[in-house]
Amino acid sequence: MADWNDPAWQLRNRIQALEQLETRLRLTPEERAGTILAGKKLALGITPHFFNLIDRDDPDCPIRRQVLPRIEESVTNPDELVDPCGEDSHMPVPGLVHRYPDRVLLLVTDRCASYCRYCTRSRVVSGAGEQELSVDLEGAYGYLEKHPEVRDVLLSGGDPLLLSDSKLDSILSRLRKIPSIEFVRIGSRIPIFLPQRITPALVGMLKKHHPLFLSIHANHPKELTAEVRTGLERLADAGIPLGNQSVLLRGVNDRAEILKELFHKLLLCRVRPYYLYQCDLITGSAHLRTTIREGQELMEQLRGHTTGYAVPTYVVDGPGGGGKIPIGPGYIVGMADDRVILKNYRGDVYEYPEIGQPNPADIRR
Ligand SMILES: *Cc1c(COP(=O)(O)O)cnc(C)c1O
Repeated sequence: MADWNDPAWQLRNRIQALEQLETRLRLTPEERAGTILAGKKLALGITPHFFNLIDRDDPDCPIRRQVLPRIEESVTNPDELVDPCGEDSHMPVPGLVHRYPDRVLLLVTDRCASYCRYCTRSRVVSGAGEQELSVDLEGAYGYLEKHPEVRDVLLSGGDPLLLSDSKLDSILSRLRKIPSIEFVRIGSRIPIFLPQRITPALVGMLKKHHPLFLSIHANHPKELTAEVRTGLERLADAGIPLGNQSVLLRGVNDRAEILKELFHKLLLCRVRPYYLYQCDLITGSAHLRTTIREGQELMEQLRGHTTGYAVPTYVVDGPGGGGKIPIGPGYIVGMADDRVILKNYRGDVYEYPEIGQPNPADIRR
């Protein structure tokens, strides 16, 4: 299987058309109608590697739900948005989102190896939607040089690891020339969608730019295949700290046992679960969304019940541009000047007295 292991072969042989899907599995009417519609919204695209994880006999397969379009995508709730995180209004330079005081998001490409149906950036990603992503890299470098308060740059897109080694090397090298930038990270689902891309050459290039962190995106334990584990091992061995950002999705990972298995498996791959996102209010995603209360209940079944490293922070990206807001659940039951009432993971109540600073008269010299 020389071809299968070649990332270029995987990309060339992506499933991108209804006919390719229909020769490989029996679509439900909802999927068939959704796939016809996808050309106008967010393209259909699935690498053979990821497609292979689909259980062909199970229309509710959690892998399938993430990447096969469904007709429900055409249903727009009035509270859903095309740009749910309000990114377009926070771009001082095309492609550069500056929302927080000391860090920025730099969108370097509009393409991914496969397309997640709940993509928060579907308005600009994949080339199918109405908007086009414009990126002004030179403008972004100039902006960062004039804004030394920015010490952290997050490369995203699209998927930055879809760029060639040399293109990515040139972006990272240019960022590293800006003295105020301390910290660079890449957000990528390539380690999951296209693990063949995590070559020794890529990893050798990335490690020249330390400290460099990488956030991957895995949602279900089935995604952590042998090939994926090999890629992650390469990255971790190169000293690249790895985090994971999952999206909580109805029918994919909205059960505590599944999340726990996912987070445990990630730790075995030396990946620290970083964030669990409440599904953004992107148009046509209601069928994949849970309530925040359900999310909190799931988090309650993790915190304290398993390794702290396996418990990500549950966040919602404030609709319209509020940034990431942790949504608990909270463990503080009550607060007064002299005490805080807490509950632990079992629900038992504890009191933490706030005893104040020592009185100088009480200090024996
Ligand atoms: C998520 C995000 C960041 C990074 O946030 P962290 O909490 O530091 O991981 C930065 N800028 C934007 C616009 C973001 O959406």
